[in-house]
Amino acid sequence: MNIADLTLEETRNALKKKEISSLELTQEYIGRMETYKHLNAFITETPELAVEQAKIADHNIANDNAGKLEGIPLAVKDLFCTKNIRTTAASKILGNFIPTYESTVSQKLLESGAVMLGKTNLDEFAMGSANTTSGFGNVISPWKKNDGSNQELVPGGSSGGSAAAVAAKLCLGATGTDTGGSIRQPASFCGIVGIKPTYGRCSRWGIVAFSSSLDQAGVFAENVKDAAILLEASSGYDPKDSTSVNVPVPDFAAAMTGDVRGMKIGIPKEYRVDNMPSDIENLWQQGIDWLKDAGAEIVDVSLPHTKYALPAYYIIAPAEASSNLARYDGVRYGLRADEDALLDMYEKTRAEGFGDEVKRRIMIGTYVLSAGYYDAYYIKAQQVRRLIRQDFMTAFEKCDALLTPATPSAAFAIGENEDDPIKMYLNDVFTVSLNLAGLPGMSVPAGLDENGLPLGLQIIGKAWDEETIFKVGGVLENAADFTKKAYK
Ligand code: GLN
Repeated sequence: MNIADLTLEETRNALKKKEISSLELTQEYIGRMETYKHLNAFITETPELAVEQAKIADHNIANDNAGKLEGIPLAVKDLFCTKNIRTTAASKILGNFIPTYESTVSQKLLESGAVMLGKTNLDEFAMGSANTTSGFGNVISPWKKNDGSNQELVPGGSSGGSAAAVAAKLCLGATGTDTGGSIRQPASFCGIVGIKPTYGRCSRWGIVAFSSSLDQAGVFAENVKDAAILLEASSGYDPKDSTSVNVPVPDFAAAMTGDVRGMKIGIPKEYRVDNMPSDIENLWQQGIDWLKDAGAEIVDVSLPHTKYALPAYYIIAPAEASSNLARYDGVRYGLRADEDALLDMYEKTRAEGFGDEVKRRIMIGTYVLSAGYYDAYYIKAQQVRRLIRQDFMTAFEKCDALLTPATPSAAFAIGENEDDPIKMYLNDVFTVSLNLAGLPGMSVPAGLDENGLPLGLQIIGKAWDEETIFKVGGVLENAADFTKKAYK
C-alpha cells in the first residue's frame, strides 16, 4: 500500500485501526514535499513541528483519545496567523512577521489533532488569480498539458500553494481563503475540491485581512467527502470575530446521501458568457445531464445583475484593502525601511514592501473612497452588491442550488494574462458574485479540457445550506468519475 494514495477518510480509518502510524504518514508527506519542492507550494515548511505533532497524535490514538483529525497531515495558507511560525501573506512587508497568536481556524484544526506541515504560498495579500503576485515566487501547478510541451502552468490563485499541494499530494488537505474566488478557482485549475462556506461560517480571526466583508476561510481536499470532514472541523462560532454567526455546524459528510431526487437545480442564464470555450459549455451541459439522470429537476433562473458583479467587486475589494493595509507602516509589523524622518520611513517601507498588484489595489481603493468619488463609486458599488444578493434570493425561491462553471478557462501558462490586469480579473467572473452575496459555493472537478487540464463545476447554495452543496457535489463527483491523472 502506498500511503499517499489514501484519501483523508481512508487515512483516518487506517490510523484508527493502527495499520499505519501518524509518524510514518507524516514522514511520507515530508518526503513528498521535498520531492516536489520545485512547485514552490510552501513558503515555510515545518517538518520538525509536524514530526512532534505526529508523535503526540500516535500517543493519543494509542490511548483512545483521538480527535477528529488526529494525526492527519495538513497545510495552512500563509494568510492564517500561526503562533510562533512566520506568517507572511506572501508579502515582503511581512517577511519576518512571527505572530504571537494562532488563527481560530488553524487552532480548531490543531485541536482536532491535525499535523501541520507548513504554510502555503499565495498571491500577495491574496490579491490575484494565478499565484504570480507572491513576493516569494510563483507556484507551479503539478498539472501539464497533454501536448508534451512541458510548459509550466499556474495553479490559480490566490490560494495556489494550497491547491497545488493538495493536487500533488503533499498534504491531505489545506486551508484557503476566498474573497472573490481564491478557493474555487485554484481548486478548478488543480482538479481538486474547494469550498467557500457562507460568510460567517468560519472565523476570520487571525487571518490577515484583505477585504473584510468578502473574505471567508474554507478548505481544499482531493474529494467531496474529505472536504466535508475538513470544513466541519474548521467551522463554528467565534466571539472574537464580530461577523462570525452563532449557528450549529452540521455533519456535512452525513449530508452526502447521494439522493438528489426531486431537488431543483437552477441554471442561471447570465453565466453563459461570450466566448466561453466549448469544453466548458459542454461540461456544464454534462453536469446538468448528470443531475437530471440522478432525478433532480433542472430549472432556468435569471441573475440579471451578474454583469455588474466584477466591477462592483473591483471597487469594494480594493476599497477595503486600502483601509486594511494602512496598518503596514513599518512601525508595528514586519519590514521597516531605514529613514530618519517618520513620513519618509512610512513611504519607503511601503514602496519596498508591497508588490505592484498590491500597490495598484491600494491606489484604486484610496481613489474610490476619496471625497467626491465616494458616492459615485463606493456607495454605488454597495448598492449594486445589494441587487446582486437580491437576485440570488429571488432565484432561490425557485430552486435549492445553482450549477455553473467554476472558471471561464482552464489553467493558463505562467506569465500569460500578466500584461493586462483586467484579463486577470476576468478569471473570477463566475465566483465573485457569491462573495458579494455572502453565499457558499464549491468547485468540484468534473472533467478535462482538450489539453487534458482539469475543469470544475461550481455548486452555489443558499446561505447556511452547505449540506445541499455537499449532497449535489457528491452526486456530481460520482457521475464524473474524475480520476486524477497527475501525481499518483
Ligand atoms: N482573484 C481575486 C482578486 O484578485 C480574488 C482573490 C481572492 O479571492 N482572494 O481579488
